[in-house]
Amino acid sequence: MQLQDIEAIQSILAIPKKITIIPHRNPDGDAMGATLGLFHILKQLHHHVVVMAPNEFPDFLAWLPDSEKVLLFERNFDNCKTILENSEVIFTLDFNALHRTGEQMENVLKTITATSIMIDHHQAPDGFATFTFSDTAYGSTCQMLYDFIYQLGFEKLINKTVATCLYTGIVTDSGSFRFPKTTCATHKCAADLIDRGINNSEIHNLLFENSSYNRLLLLGKALQNLKIVAEYNTTYITLSQDELNEFEYKKGDTEGIVNYGLSIKNIDFTAIFIENKEEGIIKISFRSQGNFDVNQFARNYFNGGGHINAAGGKSFLSLDETIKQFIAILAKEKNNHEN
Ligand code: 5GP
Ligand code: MN
Repeated sequence: MQLQDIEAIQSILAIPKKITIIPHRNPDGDAMGATLGLFHILKQLHHHVVVMAPNEFPDFLAWLPDSEKVLLFERNFDNCKTILENSEVIFTLDFNALHRTGEQMENVLKTITATSIMIDHHQAPDGFATFTFSDTAYGSTCQMLYDFIYQLGFEKLINKTVATCLYTGIVTDSGSFRFPKTTCATHKCAADLIDRGINNSEIHNLLFENSSYNRLLLLGKALQNLKIVAEYNTTYITLSQDELNEFEYKKGDTEGIVNYGLSIKNIDFTAIFIENKEEGIIKISFRSQGNFDVNQFARNYFNGGGHINAAGGKSFLSLDETIKQFIAILAKEKNNHEN
């Protein structure tokens, strides 16, 4: 982050402003942790702050402090549009292209002239923001935000509430401190957050030990559906809409399932295909180990993006057709990759 940008933002934030903070559509732990963490910082500075998510966040994040105050654009279109139009500053966190907020919200955001500040750790940022803080070396936006808060000189404002939000994003995006972007700095940041009073063990419980029985049964179904394509060191999982319905799927229930595909010996690439009949799409998550770039794979073939080892995308074909397409692409890409 450039010093002159930090100084410019310091002077913008020196006087109370109308500020809106936005995570990406289908926000995850990092997006919600970052937006609510920043919300609680800016509140202490007497700004008028709103967190506005494009759509619902999963139940397993509903315990985050003040999550009940988050406005949902999809549910309150007119009110949200007015708030966006009146905002003086807009923070966009954990995404780097406006289309990640969904078509409707993107169309509104494109017309907004407020100062915008993007903080994000995905690849290939769009240049939509007034200030862009983009760094793919970070494992989470929450860890980036932590450094940003220090650079602004606001670290005294990282109280237990802020720290709880930031820790949530760091834990969820790092797979509980095990993914490759987990560094010494990540652990130092976590240590500082613990020093600031968070109950780290309880946060892990709230995030991961709070499952419904149906969610566990859905995981069982997903694992039964796991296929191995040994030739390409690849696995994949499918979940059809009928299977989701059978186990009364709720948003967030499939979170993390994709990672099981990588837990098998010699597998370096995996995907999960989840049918969404309402949206008419197959939502896909990709994960890899090593240098197989799933961000590029998702961008090239499945209308998506993300990071080298974790990305997502979507298909407009049927579930069966999508799998056929995936296998065909796999043969081509993996052969190229291995050569
Ligand atoms: P997940 O598979 O957990 O939904 O997402 C993995 C990573 O890829 C996340 O960092 C997420 O933000 C990104 N991602 C997921 N879906 C999409 C998508 O449709 N488009 C883009 N550009 N990124 C995505
Ligand atoms: Mn993230």
